[in-house]
Amino acid sequence: MRLLLATMSHETNTFSPVPTKLARFCRDGVTLLKGQAAIEYYRNTGTCMGGFLNVAAEAGAEVVVPVCASAPPSGRVDAGAFETFCSLICDEVRKGGFDGIMLDLHGAMAAEGFEDGEGELLRRVRAIDAVTPVAVAYDMHANVFDDMVRLATVVAGYHTYPHVDMRQTAERAGRVLLRAMRGEVRPVSAWGSAPMLPHVMAQGTHMFPNKDLQAMCAGWEASGRALAASLFVGFPHADVSMAGLSAVVVTDGDAADAQVMVDELIGFAWKARREFMFAIAPLEESVARAKNAVVDGPVFLLDHYDNCASGGTMDTTEVLAEILRQGLEDVVFFGIYDPEAVEACVAAGVGAEVSLDVGAKLPMPLLPVLGIDASKKKYVAIKSRVHWRADLGQLAKEIVECAGVGVCTSDYAQLTFRNVRRPIFPLEPELGWNMPA
Ligand SMILES: [Zn+2]
Repeated sequence: MRLLLATMSHETNTFSPVPTKLARFCRDGVTLLKGQAAIEYYRNTGTCMGGFLNVAAEAGAEVVVPVCASAPPSGRVDAGAFETFCSLICDEVRKGGFDGIMLDLHGAMAAEGFEDGEGELLRRVRAIDAVTPVAVAYDMHANVFDDMVRLATVVAGYHTYPHVDMRQTAERAGRVLLRAMRGEVRPVSAWGSAPMLPHVMAQGTHMFPNKDLQAMCAGWEASGRALAASLFVGFPHADVSMAGLSAVVVTDGDAADAQVMVDELIGFAWKARREFMFAIAPLEESVARAKNAVVDGPVFLLDHYDNCASGGTMDTTEVLAEILRQGLEDVVFFGIYDPEAVEACVAAGVGAEVSLDVGAKLPMPLLPVLGIDASKKKYVAIKSRVHWRADLGQLAKEIVECAGVGVCTSDYAQLTFRNVRRPIFPLEPELGWNMPA
């Protein structure tokens, strides 16, 4: 058995001023991961590619990896970079000889010229090879377009946010594909979307309604009613026509039942649409609440307008400034992007004291890497919305969301949406909508 595995992953924040050139997808800034180097990098990791490699190994398959390209969230993907990824994958497809294709795609990639980067890749792949079965693993933040489902044999999405089941998601998609290749199942898909933009701050799977939606999906998969069931909350900071919530269900030959489950998910989400909203408190009020919190352990302040995992530039300082203005003490703040400040510190040397203007550019590594024990701090201020919970959530005794400034703003009234389909909730807060019969 011979399998083509590839990654093309980017969550595009179309409001972000950070450019997304090819170098951003290269671990060393120059070279794209591919071939044996990519296999070794991702083998035994918790990533989607790690999951696909596991499935391939279980099947004893020969694996070809034309490219593993992923980059942190930022602005629209450069046209040249997008062509490079598509060409690497399509050139390999053109050579032929594959029994199956497994693609690790984000689902919210907007490239220059294409609002559905993943759909465009699949259109090109299918124009070359309309037959070989294709499995796709998507991020829960995928903004789903028709071709992203229709042109794949099986689609699966994460069930957790923070995302801690990427490997399992790819394994689910990959194993269904292998069963289909052996003729054991005949995957058929249904999908649907609701005209709603769930707020990112309200999407976590630790709480209603997404916790319940993901449990419905997992339940149908566990019972065997669905081969794969996925609820995508969507990524609202991508101003594309299909931004928003959607559901995809794959069954073994029962298209009608797949549609029933899709409708159940969409209906549940639409009824709970107001629970997918987020009330924004003034920054001054939030920081004061943190200051007055009486707890034994860290209070987490979330600078959710400049979230590093949603395309934030990491150099806005409003929340940090408010923390300083109100005189909070024993604070660790992650992070500010500022290479100049770091250079100044390095030049000053260990143990020296320097005065700095911060608020420029430096992608800082994880907190423990810096030698900071966050659990010992009175306050931990971070540029994150939900993902911080995966590692740091257990440390927080109190959580305070801080409305600063940033291109991942939680106040959607600050964004000028030009492309998203209208009407859509909550941009039209009183929108009435009946699910299509
Ligand atoms: Zn995501």
